[in-house]
Amino acid sequence: MKNIYVIGAGLAGSEAAFQIAEAGLPVTLYEMKPQKYSPAHHSPYFAELVCSNSLRSNLLENAVGVLKQELRYQKSLIMASADMHHVPAGGALAVDRDGFANTITETLKNHPLITVKNEEIKNLNKFNLQEDYVLIATGPLTSEDLFQALKSFLDEEDLYFFDAVAPIIESESIDSNITFRASRYDKGEGEYINCPFSKEEYEQFYEELVHAETVPINEVDDLKLFQGCMPIEEIARQGKETLLFGPLKPVGLIDPRTGKQPYAVVQLRQDNHAASLFNLVGFQTRLKWNEQKRVFHLIPGLENAVFERYGVMHRNTYINSPNHLNLGYQHKVYEHLYFAGQITGVEGYVESVGSGLVAAKTLINHIKQEKQQNYTEQLYLNPETMLGGLAHYVISADSNHFQPMNANFGLVPELKSSERNLLKQKFKIEEKGRRGRRLVYSYRALSHYPEWMSENNYKFENQINEIEPR
Ligand SMILES: Cc1cc2nc3c(=O)[nH]c(=O)nc-3n(C[C@H](O)[C@H](O)[C@H](O)COP(=O)(O)OP(=O)(O)OC[C@H]3O[C@@H](n4cnc5c(N)ncnc54)[C@H](O)[C@@H]3O)c2cc1C
Repeated sequence: MKNIYVIGAGLAGSEAAFQIAEAGLPVTLYEMKPQKYSPAHHSPYFAELVCSNSLRSNLLENAVGVLKQELRYQKSLIMASADMHHVPAGGALAVDRDGFANTITETLKNHPLITVKNEEIKNLNKFNLQEDYVLIATGPLTSEDLFQALKSFLDEEDLYFFDAVAPIIESESIDSNITFRASRYDKGEGEYINCPFSKEEYEQFYEELVHAETVPINEVDDLKLFQGCMPIEEIARQGKETLLFGPLKPVGLIDPRTGKQPYAVVQLRQDNHAASLFNLVGFQTRLKWNEQKRVFHLIPGLENAVFERYGVMHRNTYINSPNHLNLGYQHKVYEHLYFAGQITGVEGYVESVGSGLVAAKTLINHIKQEKQQNYTEQLYLNPETMLGGLAHYVISADSNHFQPMNANFGLVPELKSSERNLLKQKFKIEEKGRRGRRLVYSYRALSHYPEWMSENNYKFENQINEIEPR
């Protein structure tokens, strides 16, 4: 029997180890915690959510919602735990982070085919890559030694950029005489706590925010801010109005005390089941901690806020996957070597889980040598699905400008408007405009899953053009 090793029990590594073990193959899972923690990891649990507790949209009009549904059909451990530990968040799937991670940790530790080793892997020397199977899922904060070892192994320079984390606040310390509960456009049941600004309050907050002191950046590191996770102070520096169209936009929110839309609004989202913690939505930051306290206390309703965790900013490591990987996250030269998670250039919690699942299934197929003939048998690589779309993106993107990627409908093959209209008829999609267009792509992806077809009462055929409602 070949040895199989998964390195890193984060979102991707936990999912990968589970899939491999569930396929009947013994696997050793290496995790450096609790001996060693990255700057953003704090809990000894596996699959720790280092920033937001939201796994983003759960709706099928959204690509990450489709990805979640595909993962559910693929029997993902991470999705099962997320669904089990969800907390109210409107159309998003947010979780109680400790409950979520605890279920995953216990499942993996108690699995008869999984051996857990708490050890930092510093290089690949201990593995025989001709014999052993190795799946690297050490994430955006891969430890320094392994990072350097991978750099020389892959002969790559410049494998990183920066991400930022939002602060978490004790809900009891939020002034409910000033804030109000509501979801934008009254969608949901008022899950968010909203802090309303007058124009004067906003202007004072803005001035303090853009002049506050930030943590210095390591001079060796060239600052490359990822647009999807830009620190609040960097967004603010782009112009006085920018926040009003971004994280502080007031549209769809009416302050019940005035009956009017405030000038600006900061939203807080529930962070745990007990609703004792809330995070500041969109407030990733690299302000110094004392500056965060000073400036964020200027937000109406947060004058006495107690910070459970301050925002931080960190390196984000990823390899230039188009240069190194085959479809299925397999190394081009060493066929027994796989990568998964953020280190491959997928971006986001759910995307990392997705790549962990696909890499594991590709590895399993390689070991079992069950030759799949087409994409229908390898659903997780089908380019029309979101799992497949991401897997195709990381190998086919331009390696000169390779950027981490969230799930989005631009990753799957485009449909001509005549094809879209046909599918709209077949799936009886009545929505018009952007939402209608997005649902066509969602339904096309999900139509590859027999479960979705039978849930929705469609006949299952291999070819999309042959799908007919019953
Ligand atoms: C600061 C920050 C904030 C982020 N916020 C969000 C967010 O809000 N929403 C979102 O969708 N995505 C976010 N991301 C992006 C990304 O989705 C997460 O980082 C996600 O956790 C990546 O999953 P992963 O499995 O690739 O890595 P991780 O979940 O980080 O797992 C990697 C694991 O490997 C372990 N490890 C590292 N090096 C070694 C080693 N040498 N030997 C053994 N074990 C090792 C680590 O301890 C860790 O447990 C954020 C990223 C960062 C860096």
